[in-house]
Amino acid sequence: MGRKFVRAIFPGSFDPITNGHLDVISRGMKLFDELIIAVGRSPIKNPLFSPQERVEMIAELIADMPGVSVESFDGLTVEYAAQKKADVILRGLRSLTDVQYEFQLAMTNRAVAGIETVFIMTSEQYGFTSSTLIRQIAALGGNVSGLIPKSIYSLLQQRIHKLKD
Ligand code: ADP
Repeated sequence: MGRKFVRAIFPGSFDPITNGHLDVISRGMKLFDELIIAVGRSPIKNPLFSPQERVEMIAELIADMPGVSVESFDGLTVEYAAQKKADVILRGLRSLTDVQYEFQLAMTNRAVAGIETVFIMTSEQYGFTSSTLIRQIAALGGNVSGLIPKSIYSLLQQRIHKLKD
């Protein structure tokens, strides 16, 4: 019997995408036939990059990854998942703190839309990496080059210089 085709969406803010996100993506692409990275367009607090910019940044990084694509979406994640005919929602886990929030989110999504969430644990070295902290550290002049891809680091520096002018 053939295996079922599995399409996953990986929703998030990705402001900006980090090595932790990429770690989850590269693990996810081995599990799923198709993986759509879904950049939420709903307003988040003080976004550094526009949804379109975030999509373009990610598109460059995943260009060589078969079965992986990126797009932005509006509104509810579960509605977007249904629209894309996704079988599962993929989320990354860093710590026990993430588990508490993610469980609640996953159970709510399953209760309202019947969709399952699959979790992937990040590599230990990215267990503390968060986009929010990266934005804050970079704004204060800290070096976050080890936590994000090179291309993202230079865009981040440019954006922060521009905001300071
Ligand atoms: P959101 O605002 O929806 O939490 P994020 O862009 O911060 O969006 O994160 C998207 C997903 O990636 C979430 O499941 C989050 O837990 C996960 N994630 C974020 N950073 C990491 C990391 N360093 N390692 C593994 N997963 C991560």
